[in-house]
Amino acid sequence: MSAPLIEIKNVSFRYEQTIALEAINMTVEEGDFLAILGPNGSGKSTLLKILLGLLKPTTGEVKLFGKDTKHFKEREWIGYVSQKSNSFNSGFPATVEEVVKGGLVKKAGLFHRVPASATKEVDRALRSVGMEELRKRPIGELSGGQQQRVFIARALVSRPKVLILDEPTVGVDQQNVQAFYDMLDRLNREEGITLILVTHDADVVSDRISHVACLNQTIHFHGFKNELERMSDEQREAWYGHSVRK
Ligand code: ADP
Ligand code: MG
Repeated sequence: MSAPLIEIKNVSFRYEQTIALEAINMTVEEGDFLAILGPNGSGKSTLLKILLGLLKPTTGEVKLFGKDTKHFKEREWIGYVSQKSNSFNSGFPATVEEVVKGGLVKKAGLFHRVPASATKEVDRALRSVGMEELRKRPIGELSGGQQQRVFIARALVSRPKVLILDEPTVGVDQQNVQAFYDMLDRLNREEGITLILVTHDADVVSDRISHVACLNQTIHFHGFKNELERMSDEQREAWYGHSVRK
């Protein structure tokens, strides 16, 4: 058996005064579509930043492909769309394709040329998120949902194995949320991209995900998504936080 993609072993994290995460254990396998649920302030974004190597665990370790993270200075194979990425206002001049190309500039490094294949890669990434028609438009003119797709394309342009998304549907119109998750579902099933998603949309994602983790400083629940359906109303209310819908 091959080693799991990501293993989180007994990870704790504290910001000076605040204990954000306590004794987290979790495994993510290639091809998983994992949703992480939890109320505001429960440590979701902190956990994602630890997976990305942006924060170092106070104690415990993260293993990638069974190896200690010190073997992984570069984590280009992990794409990341941060919280509130889709909030450019109308004055922002960069076009959709410029923003997406920025994902390659980051990969090539500031002093290297972006390879000649860049245009093809940008096209491919925009097609993956259904945004190829809007490539010449300034990003500030697009809706929250369209902007979010552009940032996903920016992450996809360097062909990551894993895509990590922090509350991607905040700022997406309610009527577009289903279509947004259809797109993620397609990336997972057809392009084989492992997805780790922090969200409050538990009801909407439950048809698409393979696994769910409920986090509040520690993991209270991690398993297949059908376990989510067995939660009591009180538990659901607690986990879904502010956006509980009946
Ligand atoms: P979530 O994403 O679930 O809302 P966070 O991971 O952002 O939660 O935050 C977890 C806890 O850590 C919260 O109590 C938050 O106030 C605290 N926290 C987050 N970022 C910082 C920081 N940079 N400095 C100090 N405390 C922080
Ligand atoms: Mg957060």
